[in-house]
Amino acid sequence: MEDRISKIVIVGGGSAGWLAAGVIAAEHRIDPQAKQPFELVLIESPDVPTIGVGEGTWPSMRSTLQRIGLSETEFLRECDASFKQGTWFRDWQTGNGDTYSHPFTVPIDYADINLAPHWLALTGAPPFADAVTPQTALFADCLAPKQITTPEYAFVVNYAYHLDAGRFADLLRRHCTEKLGVEHVKANVLQVNAAENGDIRSVTTDRSGEIAGDLFIDCTGSKSLLLGEHFGIPFQSKQEYLFNDSALATQVPYAEEDQAIQSCTHSTAQTAGWIWDIGLPTRRGIGHTYSSAHISDDEATAQLLAYIKEIAGDEAAADVTPRKIRFQPGHRREFWHRNCVAIGMSSGFIEPLEASALVMIELAAGMIADQMPPTREIMDIVAQRYNRKFRRHWNQIIEFLKLHYVLSERDDSPYWRDNHATASIPDKLSEQLLLWRYRSPWHQDAEAVDELFPTASYQYILHGMGFRSAPRHTRSHQQDQLQHRASELFQQNAARASQLQQALPGNRELLNKVREFGFQKL
Ligand SMILES: Cc1cc2nc3c(=O)[nH]c(=O)nc-3n(C[C@H](O)[C@H](O)[C@H](O)COP(=O)(O)OP(=O)(O)OC[C@H]3O[C@@H](n4cnc5c(N)ncnc54)[C@H](O)[C@@H]3O)c2cc1C
Repeated sequence: MEDRISKIVIVGGGSAGWLAAGVIAAEHRIDPQAKQPFELVLIESPDVPTIGVGEGTWPSMRSTLQRIGLSETEFLRECDASFKQGTWFRDWQTGNGDTYSHPFTVPIDYADINLAPHWLALTGAPPFADAVTPQTALFADCLAPKQITTPEYAFVVNYAYHLDAGRFADLLRRHCTEKLGVEHVKANVLQVNAAENGDIRSVTTDRSGEIAGDLFIDCTGSKSLLLGEHFGIPFQSKQEYLFNDSALATQVPYAEEDQAIQSCTHSTAQTAGWIWDIGLPTRRGIGHTYSSAHISDDEATAQLLAYIKEIAGDEAAADVTPRKIRFQPGHRREFWHRNCVAIGMSSGFIEPLEASALVMIELAAGMIADQMPPTREIMDIVAQRYNRKFRRHWNQIIEFLKLHYVLSERDDSPYWRDNHATASIPDKLSEQLLLWRYRSPWHQDAEAVDELFPTASYQYILHGMGFRSAPRHTRSHQQDQLQHRASELFQQNAARASQLQQALPGNRELLNKVREFGFQKL
């Protein structure tokens, strides 16, 4: 076959580059000796640092790591990683100490019954998430999602990870180069060279000359060197919907070495953004993401320091020098153009809320690995499908993230008031909100089988933030049976929560055991 894809060149060695390399190499079993079925080269600049943030993941990361062939024990030890079971939100609804949770476990018996209308009909019920899943009961006590006897990647309750982004890229690099046959070139790409047909023929580097390829994966971060700069695929800003464009990131030590490690990301709303707080075994990763149009960097820093004082004391706050990061919320108009596909920050980034960036990288790498075009002729068909799918994912990210802001009753600053302006709400979200006034979302609301955010996530955000769908007034024998079943499930859930609280170890206790003994291999 003349136009066979025989060499893939990835440019960029952040989480996107190495995850893409790992997933593709593992899927196609690249043999370092025979170099079949294709070569995979990753070029990484020795001078341009990675973005170095991105510590929150989704449960999909468990499958991705397994797919790459990494041991969970090694991953947890090497990446200073901990277990993440969801997100806990504070001050998002009223700003007066309100809280709610978005756990990773779907409501009990979710496939068969929508508990939301039954929960809405109760008086004096516990918060929605507490009523429908035992997972949130583990948040308060900083409990783990499994035991040391649970095999690698298996769970008692669904979970993802918090991790150190720098150490994660290092581990992936070692694994990809030592175990998966990925060739690593440390050089700066200086120029992108076009072929006669308009594809990319090669890239010119400062230390390794010209490197040719058949498929180029642009993982150069927000520079978007290949897709953006070379091909000129326009960037579409989404700041009209989601205003945050700045972040201050820092790390805070624990006051005591054996302090409990949170089971979920803590997200605390501020007057013009929100603060993330992520617990790793050796430190906390804390940052403030905000809209520069609504607050100055100095004010944002003051809010971050006030938060750190509150949770870790004056001394911890005094030692903090946050790193400033600017980003533009949005994405490229298309992501796969000719023989170049962009993954990670080079394809787009909206903001850290709900940690949707790494999961998009996993999905992108997974689709490229699964649908790897064997020839150049097939590539355009795969590219079109890829672009359609990822446009849908980006739209859903924007709508789902905006939901968090739209539902807020906060009126204490221009940021929150601007977030309620009709023009700032995507049309589809406005439509959905109107519809959900009459019925709580459930399976019918999923328009595709592979939606990024499941309908259960919408339920957690909507009902966690006090949104009420009108009660249904139909009375039938079947309705009575469902009501009865719902009551049983609420009771079962409460019993399961108490049982798990007794049975599961603390996060730190389990992570210490993993360090010492490791999990059983699956
Ligand atoms: C404030 C903030 C918080 C975030 N939090 C989360 C989170 O909690 N969860 C989540 O999923 N995501 C999060 N993200 C996003 C996440 O950090 C990124 O999606 C992820 O790190 C992937 O980055 P990347 O690999 O695309 O880019 P980068 O890490 O920027 O890597 C770019 C790579 O390209 C290389 N490069 C650049 N120019 C050249 C050149 N000329 N030649 C050769 N190589 C070159 C660099 O050396 C580097 O290796 C966050 C982002 C921000 C800004």
